[in-house]
Amino acid sequence: MPEVAVSMPHRILIVEDEPGLRLTLADRLQSEGYEIETAADGMHGYRRALDELFDLIVLDILLPGRNGLDVCRDLRREGIPIPILMLTARGQMVDKVLGLKLGADDYMTKPFEMIELLARIEALLRRTPRGATAADAVCVLGAARVDMRSAEVIRGGLRIPLAAREFQLFRYLLDHRGEVISREQILKEVWGYRHIPATRTVDVHISWLRQKLEEDPANPQWIVTAHRLGYRLTA
Ligand code: CA
Repeated sequence: MPEVAVSMPHRILIVEDEPGLRLTLADRLQSEGYEIETAADGMHGYRRALDELFDLIVLDILLPGRNGLDVCRDLRREGIPIPILMLTARGQMVDKVLGLKLGADDYMTKPFEMIELLARIEALLRRTPRGATAADAVCVLGAARVDMRSAEVIRGGLRIPLAAREFQLFRYLLDHRGEVISREQILKEVWGYRHIPATRTVDVHISWLRQKLEEDPANPQWIVTAHRLGYRLTA
């Protein structure tokens, strides 16, 4: 059973290209007890939001590389449900409307009062109950722990990051722990395939997960194979 760590701070990703504002936001939010990560452009922000787990994203719209609207839309397309608060420049009403249509939860117009931003962030986090997802759990598998917030395996003092798909696969197995899950079901639910191709993708990803999680990947203890049927997480 996952062991829930209730005291972990909310983790916020700030995607903002203006160094001064990025630093000010990071400092202030850190002093409010949040754990802060930052990205200075849209591509980097998008990657981090996909590969790691955050409780909220503060996302500027005008960004180099890939703008905030595209980042927001693509994160929603990838099924990332976490609250997004967009930052817009004054007068960009079109961007605000578009941002909300593309799946942002709230927006603020620059320049803004920090106290208002803090209030909006709190409100968004309140609306998203913790524990609604596995995001704040730590899953213990013998000598290995999976930090569901950072998508990392912690084993032998090392933090081993899980790729986005490995993590999604693990989370799916965890949600269905004890059940035998077929490859077809995994391809549908984790990969989103509607027609199931003949592919070794699932087996390859299972093997990668085992390399990271298992004491002896050749004789897995946690992610076991159900002969001809699929896989089962024994946790
Ligand atoms: Ca900007």
